[in-house]
Amino acid sequence: MTDQSFRTELDADGVLGIVWDMASRSMNVLTEGAIRELADIVERVASDDQIKGAVISSGKEGSFSGGADLTMLEGLARLYASEMAKHGEAAAAKALFEESRKLSQLYRRIETSGKPFVAAINGVCLGGAFELALSCHYRIASNDKATRVGLPEVKVGLFPGAGGTQRVARMLPPGDALQMLMKGEQIRPDKARAMRLVDEVAPKDEILSKAKAWILAGGKATKPWDEKGFKLPGGPVWSKAGFMTFPPANAIYRRETQDNYPAIRAMLQAVFDGLQLPMDLALTVESRQFAKVLRSPEAAAMIRTLFVSMQELNKGARRPAGVPKSELRTVGVVGAGFMGAGVAYVSAQAGLEVVLVDRDQDAADTGKAFAQKLISGQVSKGRATGAERDALLGRILATSDYERLKDCGLVIEAVFEDPKVKAEVIQKVEAVIADDAIFASNTSTLPISGLAKTSKRPENFVGVHFFSPVEKMLLVEVIQGKETGDRAIATALDYVRAIRKTPILVKDSRGFYANRCVIAYMLEGHLMLTEGVPAAMIENAAKQAGMPVGPLSLNDEVALDLGLRIVDATRAQLGDDAVNPAQEKLLRTLVETHGRLGRKNGKGFYDYPEGAKKRLWPGLKDLQPVHLDPDAIDVAELKKRLLVTQALEAARTVEEGVVTDVREADVGAILAFGFAPYTGGPLSYIDGMGPKRFVELASALAELHGERFRPNRLLLDLAETGDTFYGRFAGEKAPAAAA
Ligand code: NAD
Repeated sequence: MTDQSFRTELDADGVLGIVWDMASRSMNVLTEGAIRELADIVERVASDDQIKGAVISSGKEGSFSGGADLTMLEGLARLYASEMAKHGEAAAAKALFEESRKLSQLYRRIETSGKPFVAAINGVCLGGAFELALSCHYRIASNDKATRVGLPEVKVGLFPGAGGTQRVARMLPPGDALQMLMKGEQIRPDKARAMRLVDEVAPKDEILSKAKAWILAGGKATKPWDEKGFKLPGGPVWSKAGFMTFPPANAIYRRETQDNYPAIRAMLQAVFDGLQLPMDLALTVESRQFAKVLRSPEAAAMIRTLFVSMQELNKGARRPAGVPKSELRTVGVVGAGFMGAGVAYVSAQAGLEVVLVDRDQDAADTGKAFAQKLISGQVSKGRATGAERDALLGRILATSDYERLKDCGLVIEAVFEDPKVKAEVIQKVEAVIADDAIFASNTSTLPISGLAKTSKRPENFVGVHFFSPVEKMLLVEVIQGKETGDRAIATALDYVRAIRKTPILVKDSRGFYANRCVIAYMLEGHLMLTEGVPAAMIENAAKQAGMPVGPLSLNDEVALDLGLRIVDATRAQLGDDAVNPAQEKLLRTLVETHGRLGRKNGKGFYDYPEGAKKRLWPGLKDLQPVHLDPDAIDVAELKKRLLVTQALEAARTVEEGVVTDVREADVGAILAFGFAPYTGGPLSYIDGMGPKRFVELASALAELHGERFRPNRLLLDLAETGDTFYGRFAGEKAPAAAA
């Protein structure tokens, strides 16, 4: 067999070892083949009298399994679309329901097979794999550092539909269960034990023997909910405790998601209905909700962007072919300020040696102290050990001596945003590094091709644009200047992967990619304010549209004076017409008249009182020339404006060739600035409604609010030809769930 997923071995005591070890993959995943194989094994266990019980473990060194192969689920959505075309909606819904519940039925078969099954978990065990473990009669997790269990399905627009919602809700008090399911967190073994999600925690090399011992000691092959008299941990749904849980859960769902995530709503429904039924019926209810969610455009879009595309980019989809993998051991970071200190920290955390250079020893030491602060925080939270902290700090050499950069294969500069300072640094660094070393600039506004002019080796010069705070943000834009060579791109992409972030490859242009969309978003918020929309309504409309922070909040984070500097730079480079006078007046008044710079000085669109929550600055009202009647404002239109303006900017970057891969536009927008994730990103947002409808919407907004909403040529063309971004640029047929 070429693609076997499981090995089995029956020992002399009658315990069957089922080892999950997919020949063709580095990590086990649930595929159609794996499910079929496991189903056969389960039947063998159930029917063979010689087998007393079974232990399921993984043959992979550091992991159990990441769960279902989501491309398999994409296939299910396609099945629905094709059945729909052939036999109509009712038949398509039935086919999808039957097909998508096979895993759930297999797990129920394990649970009711009459033989005890134990899951012996080492490493990550997530999603469908943890649902497998939950269907076993006993779970032992290793206390290994890498071990995590959890049900993260909600993060890709799904929910645990193979019994996960029903089992968790019968094992934990309902409040805890709902929280776990809604958050989708990865849980460490000790916490999982405390929550009773696993029964035992043991050293890695003991989990198999303990699993076997549990079976031989007469481990029970019946779940509590299949026994007479079973009582739910928190009492019945229709009880005082139930009333304390489910109505607030609905409110929390609305607060956290603004009802943009149908999967979470369906999951709450499945738990609420399922807990009132015996297990088999409850699983049917769950399967119905799951099939419904699989058909949702949100699930299709989120799976594509947040799983498939992200994985492809992480695996180096954009890496120039034929360039050998770079063997980076030591990186240099020049400029130990806000960004440089973060870059040094994430690099050292990934195991790289770091030479951190600043103008003098004190400044370099301050940068290293930032790393010390972050890693010490990890230690105090129990996420790192003292030895790990010492090792990490040992990898950062803070110095003012450029000579120490000589062995670095890659040097990243994060000095002041001033072309003269940058030119001087480029020269000093190039004087000491090897001819084939790569120089990267973290500039956010200066063109890479311009900076490369001051380099002796422009083919080795590349942009590596981080977002702040570096230690939290998951995206890095790799910027390709006019002369940037393949080896520089490959090295930058390899480096970004080494520090476990997601890279997107962007052509050199003003604002690169992500900041262009963000600037459009903030502009829209500013303009709404000047039109007389109450500030709170702007912020709320943004959240209702699915943005993690409102445009005014976001501007406070990046600083209002920076916003004003960008306005000035835009005028200098592109002329008066490129600047919006209403926005300029607003920012100038805030910064120059009122000294409001944003969160950094405690005064921006918001006030930041010590020890209290931030609140909108009451003085904003006085800056508004008019005040609209809130009841007369169309909130739905505000929401559309905030998303459409960003999507238009993304579409422009594609037309201009700044972004050349639609996956990158979508992944980048969600990771860099949280573009409403349920849409799958700005291009998926356009494709989701169809470019024709989007063009109509944008054109209508242009009539009402100005030329910034005018759709570009590419959009008009897509609308006219009935094409989509993913259809034209990624060769996709119809979007899976659009049918
Ligand atoms: P910063 O002012 O906090 O840090 C700059 C550091 O560079 C200072 O420590 C300074 O002492 C040092 N420096 C200046 N001249 C030097 C020289 N000749 N040799 C060595 N060190 C020198 O600035 P920052 O916010 O960290 O920004 C740095 C770069 O990162 C800029 O290009 C900026 O555009 C870019 N960037 C900033 C952000 C952000 O959010 N702040 C985001 C992305 C990119």
